[in-house]
Amino acid sequence: MPAAYDTNNIFAKILRGELPCYKVYEDEHVFAFLDIMPRSHGHTLVIPKAPARNILDVTPDDYAHVARASHKIAAAAMKAFEADGITVQQFNEPAGGQVVFHLHMHVMPRKDGEPLLPPASRKEEAKVLEATAAKLIAALK
Ligand code: 5GP
Repeated sequence: MPAAYDTNNIFAKILRGELPCYKVYEDEHVFAFLDIMPRSHGHTLVIPKAPARNILDVTPDDYAHVARASHKIAAAAMKAFEADGITVQQFNEPAGGQVVFHLHMHVMPRKDGEPLLPPASRKEEAKVLEATAAKLIAALK
């Protein structure tokens, strides 16, 4: 049985505005922001506004809202970053590779021949993240 949702996880704090983030998209159901340790240029995280630890407790509707927003962000990221492809990943529980326990979809733009960096390998500079968010926001319009 998975653990209960922890209202003090990092992404819950970002959603409540208690921690800063580089927001790129928001609607009634979802929130999207840049990963501060990107595995590729433009690496974005899409989360439901509803509290959900992962795929094991999210409602099907909230999961669908996250998928719908990820679909939209993938298309915008292809344009914004002149990407050749997109990797979408979503990890569940420690055994499934999950580290932060508020459900999130990774949307990672890819360039031909460029491998993903390992998870959490380097923190991106603020000015790069600012410019990256601005590009993605423009492409989402
Ligand atoms: P998971 O393995 O749980 O799917 O991935 C968690 C992700 O959250 C990692 O890609 C990591 O770089 C990212 N991350 C961890 N802490 C923070 C943070 O404080 N802000 C943002 N924007 N991303 C974070």
